[in-house]
Amino acid sequence: MNKRWTIHKIREFVEKNSDSKLLSTEYHGFSQKLEFQCACGNRFEKTFTKFKNNQQQKCDVCQPPKTSR
Ligand SMILES: [Zn+2]
Repeated sequence: MNKRWTIHKIREFVEKNSDSKLLSTEYHGFSQKLEFQCACGNRFEKTFTKFKNNQQQKCDVCQPPKTSR
């Protein structure tokens, strides 16, 4: 099932499911990087897909990226 995400739904999701805030005000599609603000105050960019599905909901300082092979 494909859910259609809007910037409002994404903001709601971010607020309910993470300590981060959504800074972006527009959403153009799943490949777009959105700007977030981590609970520590750092800003970071991620696609919503990664944020939602890969649990990458913090900045690189609080949650260092896993080294991919
Ligand atoms: Zn952080």
